Amino acid sequence: MIEIKDLHKSYRTGATELHVLKGINFSVKEGELVSIMGSSGSGKSTLLNILGMLDEADAGSYTLDNVPIKNLNEKIAARYRNKFLGFIFQSFNLIGYKSAVDNVAMPLYYQGIKRKERIEKSMAYLEKVGLANWASHLPNELSGGQKQRVAIARALASDPKVLLADEPTGALDTKTSYEVMDLIQEINDEGKTILVVTHEEDIAHMTKRIVNLKDGVIIDDSFVNQVRAKANV
Ligand code: ATP
Ligand code: MG
Repeated sequence: MIEIKDLHKSYRTGATELHVLKGINFSVKEGELVSIMGSSGSGKSTLLNILGMLDEADAGSYTLDNVPIKNLNEKIAARYRNKFLGFIFQSFNLIGYKSAVDNVAMPLYYQGIKRKERIEKSMAYLEKVGLANWASHLPNELSGGQKQRVAIARALASDPKVLLADEPTGALDTKTSYEVMDLIQEINDEGKTILVVTHEEDIAHMTKRIVNLKDGVIIDDSFVNQVRAKANV
């Protein structure tokens, strides 16, 4: 599903250059649930942004579902992003003036699906994340955990090949974090390929494989015995 080879990325600010990713190699098969772990500044978000086609590497190769991702114009990149990828962020990134169901329906709008079908589909995803009764609520009327569930429903709405989550539990308390991880595990059980960036070891152990990043290189990449989040709630 995902294959990256010898990926490098530097940021230039003025005269200084910061080499953030220093030759990353890894691949992810369909159906995996992988965490990318590492301390602050180790390059996790940089890597996830490249995987999410929000940024491009300086060197190396990236193939997503057998499509080489390189030098794409923004229109094609946007089309691939919509088709292949769903995003979940630490800060939820919901649209404040839109109801829960309208937030979930956003990616379907960009796919050109008519309003009636958009709402029907979005309601089904809200039901899936346990929020059918909250469809007409605005984000600021929801708890952090509920907001993240709406964001997860939105990420699922376009039926992406891969879900990319950058610190999805970073803004949540422990109990709510485990509930969100339980949902992520459930979605993975149904076959979705998911990558979770986290700096929390207990969250990483709720995935099936931990890729450990330090100073821009992978220092460990191991399959682990997955801890079920439900047991922790
Ligand atoms: P955190 O756990 O704090 O989110 P991270 O592992 O996600 O950290 P990155 O956001 O990938 O780390 O950042 C890696 C390094 O690159 C950091 O030193 C950061 O300051 C720097 N960096 C990130 N984005 C940019 C940018 N757009 N311009 C310049 N430097 C950047
Ligand atoms: Mg980060």
